[in-house]
Amino acid sequence: MAATKEQVLASLAKVPGPDGTPLPNTGALSDIIVTDGKVFFSISVDAAVVKNWEPVRKQAEDAVRATPGVVSAMIALTAERSAGQGGAKPPPPAHAARPHAHGTGQAHAHPADKVQPGVPGVDAIIAVASGKGGVGKSTTAVNLALGLRDLGLKVGVLDADIYGPSLPKLLAIKGRPETLGGTRLKPMEGYGLKVMSIGFLIEEETPMIWRGPMVMSALTQMLREVEWGKLDVMVVDMPPGTGDAQLTIAQQVPLKGAVIVSTPQDLALIDARRGVAMFKRVNVPVLGVVENMSYFLCPSCGSRTDIFGHGGARTEATRLGVPFLGEIPLHMDIREKSDAGLPVVATEPDGAHAKIYRDIAAKVLEQIKGGASSGRSAPKIVIEA
Ligand code: ADP
Repeated sequence: MAATKEQVLASLAKVPGPDGTPLPNTGALSDIIVTDGKVFFSISVDAAVVKNWEPVRKQAEDAVRATPGVVSAMIALTAERSAGQGGAKPPPPAHAARPHAHGTGQAHAHPADKVQPGVPGVDAIIAVASGKGGVGKSTTAVNLALGLRDLGLKVGVLDADIYGPSLPKLLAIKGRPETLGGTRLKPMEGYGLKVMSIGFLIEEETPMIWRGPMVMSALTQMLREVEWGKLDVMVVDMPPGTGDAQLTIAQQVPLKGAVIVSTPQDLALIDARRGVAMFKRVNVPVLGVVENMSYFLCPSCGSRTDIFGHGGARTEATRLGVPFLGEIPLHMDIREKSDAGLPVVATEPDGAHAKIYRDIAAKVLEQIKGGASSGRSAPKIVIEA
């Protein structure tokens, strides 16, 4: 029998907060979500006292896991900057979300002393982002990861699109990650990629309400409390858009660079421009722009139509001084295969589409090896003819 919310609360009542108050009475708990034995909630505390709460988070997690009928627990400790604070503070623990820009859309430049530590064993982390949803960001992230795999690299994919995790479907991976030693998760595997997604931990239909700091905390756990092993590249599939959540991820994940996916329409390009600006603002090198659904290739006759005014992203990339990485046609095969969990690079490796993705992967690799080697340094600008 799966555990109920009441049972989880009863277990938490035995866990004292730092001043001895039973956890459910501290006012620090978010809504507790319990689905099929999987438990999620966050503990939100003032940034100044976050250190005192870390052992409480751990105890709470242990207590919840020990509750009969609980199969997994993800408990995020989130720290908020309290009013009037602003000076130097000790860094919160790795899995506590750090204070972040609120609502203003204004990022503060990333001072050198705030550079996030890397993930042990992972050589380079790159983000795949888009200014808005539906442009094919996840499809591109998956096929790019597979393209990098085909270049002989060990590749992981982290689904940071926690509002709409799609990697389990795009890679046809079912099941739940195993826990290693009670605290760390073993990544799932598909097509030779190591994969982690919140989608493995919650049911697709479960409505999740993510408050800002919870996003980063869940993500930090997926980044740092997963046994990724040795990886040459980790591809992070970002949530679509350029809001505060994306900005915080861009600031707090130790990114080597970012790839922006856009369709060629003017409106999408305006959003893509925001994406480029967002990464530049936090000193993450933009590795380049990919134009997806660039032109239409008729599946029966093979003729090509530029239905969306192909080429906009290339022009935009040149204008913004970032590399243009390639164009991917709008093709039924890509859609059908992607949606069926059969990404073209893995399932039709000799096809024309796979080659396009592999070429993009090669350019990304070149960028990682060359221009972006110093992490947060200014991007190397490569303008292609
Ligand atoms: P996003 O991550 O930007 O929301 P997805 O990768 O989920 O976008 O893609 C949205 C839809 O578009 C999916 O049904 C996907 O199969 C389809 N799609 C993505 N790229 C292409 C393409 N080049 N040609 C045809 N369909 C595509």
